[in-house]
Amino acid sequence: MSVRVGILGATGAVGQRFVQLLDDHPTFELAALTASPSSAGRRYREAAKWRVNSPIPDDVADMEVVATEPNAIADDDVDLVFSSLPSGVAADVEPAFLEAGYVVSSNSSNDRMAEDVPLTIPEINPDHLGLIEVQRDERGWDGALVKNPNCSTITMVPTLAALDRFGIETVHVSTLQAVSGAGYSGVTSMEILDNAIPHIGGEEDKMETESRKLLGEFDGASVSLHGADVAASCNRIPTLDGHLENVFAKLATDPDPAEVRDAMREFEGADLHSSPDELIKVFGENDRNRPQPRLDRGYAGGMGIVAGGVERTTEGIQYNCLAHNTIRGAAGASLLNGELLVTEGYV
Ligand code: NAP
Repeated sequence: MSVRVGILGATGAVGQRFVQLLDDHPTFELAALTASPSSAGRRYREAAKWRVNSPIPDDVADMEVVATEPNAIADDDVDLVFSSLPSGVAADVEPAFLEAGYVVSSNSSNDRMAEDVPLTIPEINPDHLGLIEVQRDERGWDGALVKNPNCSTITMVPTLAALDRFGIETVHVSTLQAVSGAGYSGVTSMEILDNAIPHIGGEEDKMETESRKLLGEFDGASVSLHGADVAASCNRIPTLDGHLENVFAKLATDPDPAEVRDAMREFEGADLHSSPDELIKVFGENDRNRPQPRLDRGYAGGMGIVAGGVERTTEGIQYNCLAHNTIRGAAGASLLNGELLVTEGYV
């Protein structure tokens, strides 16, 4: 089966990752690329300032970039679009695609916490896709909107899902985040070289709210937020693509570190093309060991989560986790949601 797909915001940091990840995909065939009015009408190789570490696929380089509106892709026979637009633009544009009947798998932060919008990690809460029926009833569109979480949230939440059996009461997390998370023009070299920037505006709130929705229960009509309190401190460091996070969880029970590592290892990938066999790669039988892969590489081609340094604290457990910002944290996460939408029959 082949599904024709488009990318909204195809020339940006996340859009380029979509192009890379869709190359030779067994189900998805890339049929449309959109961007801002200044890129529309140009060939992709001219419009995109290509920064990804593999060449632009030959069949994509000469595709024409079109305007980001449903009419511009109406003749391309596309069923599913991946969205990597700035959230202010997405808030205006995504509803137009949904009303035109497209299924939209979106990275943008608008509507992530809307009650009728699934915020989904396929390995963690695939059942939340059921909100699509609620959304269609309430909004009256034939399309479907699915969001993936913010990049720092998706790095931590799979590890929290593993801890949930021990009773999570509160979570404190401190992050060291890559510059790609701010987009290509987001942080200047003068600001970040030989520096670390404390506090990423808006990021902390996203971690504190989105994680509770992702871990919440779907009862067929709505998602109830998980009861744990989450407090985040988010910081920018001069690395390209790795997000490293230090998590301190207060638990209702007292597991030893070996039990926590086993719980994290038990998570299998979803039965989807782009899901790794092992969702969380756990390092360090010795509690002092730290996550091993380099910050710029992640694990399993950037689709896996790495965890390590599991230790007891006076109130619970502390550990580190790491993920690739523009793959598991952005385009790869949307791609997985697209694969889930296909297997669940929404596309
Ligand atoms: P980016 O590099 O700035 O790219 C933005 C894309 O949107 C470009 O293709 C741009 O086209 C297009 N665009 C801008 N204004 C537009 C307009 N008015 N109409 C139509 N298209 C427009 O941004 P990014 O880093 O890829 O982020 C994209 C989205 O993903 C954001 O919502 C961000 O919050 C989210 N996200 C990003 C990351 C990350 O790691 N970067 C992680 C998770 C989520 P032109 O090239 O023509 O300007």
